[in-house]
Amino acid sequence: MHEHVLIANWAMRQSFADYLDVPALVERAARELAEVRGRGVATIVDLTPINLGRDVHVLRQVAERSGVQIVAATGFYWTEEPWMEAWDHETLVRYLVRDIEEGIQDTEARAGIIKCATDRYGLSDLNRKLLEVTARAHRRTGVPISTHTSVAHRTGLLQQDVFEAEGVDLSRVVIGHCGDSEDLAYLEQILRRGSTIGMDRFGVDIILPTKQRVATIAELCKRGFAGQMVLSHDASCHIDFFPRELVEKAVPHWNFLHIPDDVVPALAAAGVSEAQIHEMTTLNPRRIFERQGAY
Ligand SMILES: [Zn+2]
Repeated sequence: MHEHVLIANWAMRQSFADYLDVPALVERAARELAEVRGRGVATIVDLTPINLGRDVHVLRQVAERSGVQIVAATGFYWTEEPWMEAWDHETLVRYLVRDIEEGIQDTEARAGIIKCATDRYGLSDLNRKLLEVTARAHRRTGVPISTHTSVAHRTGLLQQDVFEAEGVDLSRVVIGHCGDSEDLAYLEQILRRGSTIGMDRFGVDIILPTKQRVATIAELCKRGFAGQMVLSHDASCHIDFFPRELVEKAVPHWNFLHIPDDVVPALAAAGVSEAQIHEMTTLNPRRIFERQGAY
């Protein structure tokens, strides 16, 4: 429910031809996803927003070659950008709605989910506007919302506040990066308002090791929340935030195979039933996408 094929700055790609080797990336990504397909993963959600370098042409090629269906996203990341500041809500909403109803980058590939993000600056004026824009595009089109949060700043709850004020049914929202937290009181507060939580950074052991992520999920399953969690890595085939060698060294398990190979057996060993694993990997995602229709 939260992965990335490609995160790479568009301005850098446009300015320097060797910033990204697209054919090599497509080949490697297709190989990696074909391997995931072999583990039984039929679909991934690529949650790359517009301003982190979403490239639907790359996504289509990788989907076709790997046999993995990729759901593309629309939406804006949390980093503040000059061009966002002056535009009014409606202008920004119309861009998102165009991605959802007509297609991305002049293709007929339509966005299936809206990404938004609130990080360490919390609800700045601009961030509030972006969350409201997300809510309005969601209400107009019916596609679900999935977010990026900072658990240290408890921004999941702030996002729910804004969405609620905009009349969003919070059960249509995935509050992301909740898997970085072991604070069960915080997580339950989000869950009790009806949202699904993204346990979505498996492999990023420098934030929280797999063992603790698994223990949190097992406990929440015991408390009856298996129907409101989804599992992901937030991994990428290519991300230009960090040098590749650094990533491989710092977070060696941060790849698409970690959940099928290591996490699912660890969840089973922690007492999570096969039915609950099926809920978190298949039934919950299906429910999130099936309940479409504008308000
Ligand atoms: Zn992500």
